[in-house]
Amino acid sequence: MTIEVDVLTWNGSGRAAAPSGASTGSREVVSFPDGGVDRVVSEMEDFIASELIGMDAQDISTIDEVLKEIDGTDNLSAIGGNTTVAISMAVVKAAASSYNMPLYKYIGGNLINELPFPLGNMMNGGAHAGINAPDIQEFLVVPVGATNVGDAVFANASVHKKLKELIQTKDSNFTGGKGDEGGWIPNITNDNALEIQAQACEEVGDELGIEIRPSLDMAASELWDADKQKYVYAQDGIERDTGDQIDFVKDIIETYKMFYVEDPFDESDFDGFSQLTAKVGNKCLICGDDLFVTNKDLLAKGIEMNAANAIIIKPNQIGSLSETYATVKLAKENNIVPVVSHRSGETTDETIAHLAIGFGSPMIKTGAIGGERIAKLNELIRIEEELPNPKMGSFN
Ligand code: PEP
Ligand code: MG
Repeated sequence: MTIEVDVLTWNGSGRAAAPSGASTGSREVVSFPDGGVDRVVSEMEDFIASELIGMDAQDISTIDEVLKEIDGTDNLSAIGGNTTVAISMAVVKAAASSYNMPLYKYIGGNLINELPFPLGNMMNGGAHAGINAPDIQEFLVVPVGATNVGDAVFANASVHKKLKELIQTKDSNFTGGKGDEGGWIPNITNDNALEIQAQACEEVGDELGIEIRPSLDMAASELWDADKQKYVYAQDGIERDTGDQIDFVKDIIETYKMFYVEDPFDESDFDGFSQLTAKVGNKCLICGDDLFVTNKDLLAKGIEMNAANAIIIKPNQIGSLSETYATVKLAKENNIVPVVSHRSGETTDETIAHLAIGFGSPMIKTGAIGGERIAKLNELIRIEEELPNPKMGSFN
């Protein structure tokens, strides 16, 4: 269950819903207080609204501050980060609507014309799938050769379709089951999944004449066993210590020409991230999700340690749009690629499509199929159609 918020100004309105995650980082703000959404709606809604009514929707940083004061805790556990982020996003949408502007333009300005590459989810494992699926959480692709968003979205959907055929060659019992983000759930080893992922990229890339590169979210915090001090790959029956994990991920990146690898180490292992980034950061985006949880202070530590060259941006990890923006700004100032992202539990809310464009994020992680994922992709295509001079974003 989640929350949707409507905000009205005298001449505009904004609506936003918060998503939720399955493989959440331990340093994320708390989504909802004890009692969940029901308690927010029955006990807190009127009070929160009464504090905000009359404020200026343009002044989002003050509104976000007031929400934090109402909550009064460090991790937003009193009213919930999903409550605050849905209000924060709805306020900014209402402000944009009051100027009769689309959100991406209100955030990014009139000259904004770059669209993000969609990072599409093809196969699921780990916490986003059932037992017997691969240990790696997300097998992703990026159509880096696409020259427009429409072609890029079609390329991702085509790889997804091709993978259904290829999975059947490795898993004769495959019934077409899908995971939380719309990727297939095969009962195959991690190695087999990596192989068919690369094959699908190549075959569909050749058919469409677009370079498509494989990528991963390893969500390694979910694999890390703190007692054993090992990454446990249950499907493969293998355990790796941090040194083994560095070698394993480096080898995958080099063998499959990975474009992007997210969370290759546990959320507390900044040092493991730094070692990998030093070895392969010149040829692959090494991205922190659970590592940074959209938190500016954790990103500052990562910058100091050269831990990563990309960061996942999920507004509900931090609970407000102004803090999300501060993290994006710090990332861009330090050549860290911000990747605006969906959650595994999504709604049909399309706000992140606008945030990715408005923030100048060259990549958006939204899945490839399924209504709640397509909602964001279709919004990107609509925006591409209305921009006078659209082009794809760049990574440097
Ligand atoms: C992720 O780990 O990147 C992800 C989208 O999953 P979740 O929303 O479950 O954290
Ligand atoms: Mg992740």
